[in-house]
Parts: sequence; C-alpha cells; structure tokens
Amino acid sequence: MSHADRILMGPGPGNPYPEVIEAFGRPVLGHLDPDFIALLDEVNDRLRQVFLTENPLTFPVSATGSAGMEATFVNVLGPGDVVVVGVNGVFGERMCDVASRCGAEVVRVEAEWGTAIDPQALLDAHPSPKVIAVVHAETSTGVRNDIQPIGAGKGDALLLVDCVTSLGGIPLEIDEWGVDLAYSGTQKCLGVPPGLSPVTVSNRAIEGFVEKSQSWYLDFSMIASYVTGGGARAYHHTAPISMIYALHAGLGVVLDEGLENVHARHRACGERLQDGLVKRGFELFAQEGNRLPELTSVIVPLDRLPSGADEAGVRRRLLTEYGIEIGGGLGPVAGQVWRIGCMGHTARERNVTMLLGALDEILG
Ligand code: PLP
Repeated sequence: MSHADRILMGPGPGNPYPEVIEAFGRPVLGHLDPDFIALLDEVNDRLRQVFLTENPLTFPVSATGSAGMEATFVNVLGPGDVVVVGVNGVFGERMCDVASRCGAEVVRVEAEWGTAIDPQALLDAHPSPKVIAVVHAETSTGVRNDIQPIGAGKGDALLLVDCVTSLGGIPLEIDEWGVDLAYSGTQKCLGVPPGLSPVTVSNRAIEGFVEKSQSWYLDFSMIASYVTGGGARAYHHTAPISMIYALHAGLGVVLDEGLENVHARHRACGERLQDGLVKRGFELFAQEGNRLPELTSVIVPLDRLPSGADEAGVRRRLLTEYGIEIGGGLGPVAGQVWRIGCMGHTARERNVTMLLGALDEILG
C-alpha cells in the first residue's frame, strides 16, 4: 500500500484536501510581491470568517501551533504577571511551561484527564489575573472545555484560548465569546499540512501587550507591519509562500462548504465512530457531554487484544494491513487509550466505516 493511500486518523495531521495539494504546485512569488500580499490579505480575511472575528490582527504565524501558543503568551506576559491556566491534558501543561518561561506567576486549575475544566474554578482561581488561558479542544484526551462562560465572567482579564484542534471542527466564536487571543494549527480540522499557526488578537489584547516581548521572531508589534493590511508592507521575515497558498486553499474549501456544514460533517463522523465503538463494547474515555467529534478517545480493550499482541501491535496492524493510522495515549494514559482523529478532509463517514471494519477483523 502506498503512503499516499494511508488514511491519517491520528491526532496529528489528517489527510489534506485535494485542493490544498494542488495549491503547493503554484509558482512561488516573492514575499513582497503585490500579488502575494493580496493573497495574504485574503488569507487573513478568510481566517476572520472562520474564527468569527472582526479582529484586524488576524494572520498565520510562520510556524506550527506551538509557536502560536508561544506567540500569544510572550506578547502579553512578562515577569510577575499572573496567568490562570486550565490543565486537563498535555496542552494545558505545555501552556504552563510556556507561561513560566515568560517569567509569569502561573496559577494552575486542574481537572482529571478525560474530564473538562470547571469554568467557575478558573474564574475563582485568582482575584485579578492578567490572563486566563485554556485549551478549547484537548487533543491528548478528546475533551472539549467550555469557553463561553469563561469569556462571560473574565472581568478585566484577557482570555487566551488554544484552538488548534477546534478551529473548523466545532463551533468557535471568538468575538461573541469574548476571546482576546487565540491560536490554531493548519494540520487539524482545516485540512492543510502542518506548518502555520493562525492567530487572532483583539484590540483589548493589543492594549495589554508587554512593552518589549521576550521573543524577537514572535513579537506581534513588529510582525503586524508585514502581515496585516494597510500601509506599506515592510520585511519582517520571509513568509513560507507555499504554505500560505495551501492555507488559502484549505480555508477556501471550508468556506465553500460552509462553516456550519463543516461542523455538521465533523459531528456526524464523530457520532458514527463513537456510537460504533460503544456498540462494540468499547468504553469512551472523555466525559459525556464534553466529547470532541473530531478526536475520539477510547479505552484500549486490553482483554480483547489478539493473543500475544499489545495495543501498539494493533495500531501497527491497522497501519500496515489497512493503511489506517490512529494515535496512542499520552502521559498518564499511555498504553491505555487510543486517540482517533476525524478531522478536515479525513472526516468522512467512509473512513469511519473502514476503521470500524478493520477493528472488527483484528479484534474479532
Ligand atoms: N495545542 C493542541 C491542542 C494540540 O493538539 C497541538 C498539537 O497537536 C498543539 C497545541 C501544538 O501544535 P504543533 O504540534 O503544531 O506545534
């Protein structure tokens, strides 16, 4: 089976949309070419439509989702600033690490892996934090954390949200929910390979920027003159032209299909997969009511593995015999949980049917 035939249903990159693959073949323009600048403006405009925001400072950071995380933190947090962080998986944990490297005082609000953060606990954790940060879709557990009540109760704090696995997959309303800083990744529900991190920043957050960000490359005040519209564009860094073509195409697919239809497709695939697993006697890991359709976490049926096989062996057989990649558990649930992505172009009911059939054949 060729690598191109693989169905990527792990928590990492899903299969890109065909339109995206085509975009990589476009002639590479100069990064200050007026035609490229016009296309970048269009990308930013499409991002605003997908993030559901009017924020002028909305653009793709030239690096992966982790750089988006670092960029949002490093522009608003400096030594001594207080940040409250929700931690119920790997990416909330990563936020704490990034915030502490900014010199911020980190107040952790934890929830058990597989369960959602209590929004009120985040709001009550400190009387006057500068920032409240939380992951919308925890890819390490398949849990959705509720954002809206945090935005409603945030007071003077800035609300910073990780949307890496939620943008384009489940409803997300940046302006309506009062999110001040958000970052995402291209490789999940947007159906584009990894390499860019779409970010959006409210005017309130801009007022809260630290005087001099500790990162040169990720300093939004400097990048803004290159990436956002109006005025003369000045060189900041060399934009990854072909990746931006790819994002332009991926966003085009999402907007042509319609945001609500794309969400409905993700929801239908997630429901079909989760129902199919439950019918087969599997136990889902994420708390009911907060399960992500685009990332299903399921407890490995250790008593049903073929004799002599471990869970990694089953995932290897799925890959080598059926061309389907799924992910293993991370951190405390390594070896105990499988993580199955249905994102972007990969979120197709036929992929779910194939995976369930393959599991039936392997597990009996
Ligand atoms: N945040 C979440 C929720 C993620 O799922 C990921 C990656 O899977 C990241 C952040 C980091 O993104 P990247 O691996 O693109 O740097």
